[in-house]
Amino acid sequence: MPVDPICKMQVDEKTPFKSIYKNKEYYFCSENCKKKFDELDKSVIRVRRSLKDKEKISFGKLKREIIDPGICTLCGACVASCEVLTVAGGKPVLKGPCTACGVCYNQCPRTITTESSLIGNVRDVFTAKTMLPEVKGQDGGVVTSMLLYALEEGLIDSAVVTVKSEEEPWWPMPIIAQSREDILRSAGSIYVHSMTMETLMSAIKKGSRSIGFVGPSCNIDAVNKMQNSPYGLLHMFMRANILKLGLFCMDTFDYKGLKQFLEEKGIPLPTIREMKIRKGKFQVKADVEHIFPLSDLDVHRNGSCTVCTDLTAEKSDLSFGGVGSKEGYSTVLARTGLGLELFQDAADRGYIKIEPLERHDLEKVLHQAKAKKVQMYMIKKRIEKGKGL
Ligand SMILES: Cc1cc2nc3c(=O)[nH]c(=O)nc-3n(C[C@H](O)[C@H](O)[C@H](O)COP(=O)(O)OP(=O)(O)OC[C@H]3O[C@@H](n4cnc5c(N)ncnc54)[C@H](O)[C@@H]3O)c2cc1C
Ligand code: SF4
Ligand code: SF4
Ligand code: SF4
Repeated sequence: MPVDPICKMQVDEKTPFKSIYKNKEYYFCSENCKKKFDELDKSVIRVRRSLKDKEKISFGKLKREIIDPGICTLCGACVASCEVLTVAGGKPVLKGPCTACGVCYNQCPRTITTESSLIGNVRDVFTAKTMLPEVKGQDGGVVTSMLLYALEEGLIDSAVVTVKSEEEPWWPMPIIAQSREDILRSAGSIYVHSMTMETLMSAIKKGSRSIGFVGPSCNIDAVNKMQNSPYGLLHMFMRANILKLGLFCMDTFDYKGLKQFLEEKGIPLPTIREMKIRKGKFQVKADVEHIFPLSDLDVHRNGSCTVCTDLTAEKSDLSFGGVGSKEGYSTVLARTGLGLELFQDAADRGYIKIEPLERHDLEKVLHQAKAKKVQMYMIKKRIEKGKGL
């Protein structure tokens, strides 16, 4: 005897209360149970309508991002939400034409579909550039200008920044900057891990009480853990306020590997004026400009970066990156009240020029952030290709 799927009572097949869902007939004890069951279909239709005006998302996307990389948990949420989906060969598959309504993608627990899960909490987004001609930054020179503002306004007494070593060209050397000159020479990006935490501890030990700290997400996370974990060196950090300036970050490379790569291309490190990663290209400015596909450097990419999922340094006060802004500008995400206030004050005092970041430019940030979030899922593929971690 069939069972009413709502109240679980056994019901006679001759009951007048019946519904068909995904080609299967269901039987109910009453109009009330039938109504509850039919509501389910209505909610799928409602979700379909609300997604209709957004980007078309087909089952192919779910297949590409979740099913093919082998991270589908076979929870069945996608199958439950669409009549053209079923399970075959141990995975969700199409059994009819897909209308690209996006419902299955939005139900899957493994997809990332909200902005905050891609870039963390953000109060406001900007594109900005320095107003100080002496600042020669990587993008808009905004990080350097923010530090100059904070130091000159007496808001910080030092900054932990990374400069290029004088002995080993392009080797990242973290320093405690307490002068305009030291902050100015820290401008620019070095695509090698910088061991900033020891320098931060030294700054505190030497008596700094308000410190501007710059680093990518892995460095910002280290600061937060040392501040907040029960086993962190809290007693040290209680003596200092730390303004966290996070850098967007996709990759760093092994120093020796990077050096060897460039030397093999006939570009010794001392001749290089600037390195930049943009749109999947590695740009190197020496006597002339050289451009390589970023994938040429895959083999030298640090293993830790392959499993890192935070592009935008989500736990900072302010985050800075190139993606989303035009040449000569930095994208800025203001996350905390303190970050937003200082950023706007730096603009009011003439250190930087700020403009709101347009929606389509923020989409570029979200796109890169997504690529970073899902790279964990690609590990299996990388191992299969023999690239390892
Ligand atoms: C390793 C790395 C990877 C990056 N990847 C991306 C990316 O994929 N997409 C993107 O949009 N942006 C990326 N960025 C951020 C971007 O390169 C700029 O740092 C950012 O746009 C700010 O530019 P700016 O001109 O305002 O900074 P600037 O005024 O030039 O200041 C740069 C600051 O970065 C610090 N710094 C430089 N190298 C390091 C390092 N290795 N570790 C810690 N601090 C360092 C310096 O101390 C300085 O304070 C990356 C940065 C780094 C360091
Ligand atoms: S819910 Fe169905 S129709 Fe909609 S995208 Fe997924 S498979 Fe295609
Ligand atoms: S909803 Fe996602 S995790 Fe669940 S079965 Fe479908 S693809 Fe797999
Ligand atoms: S990719 Fe992640 S782990 Fe690698 S340097 Fe950047 S923030 Fe750190």
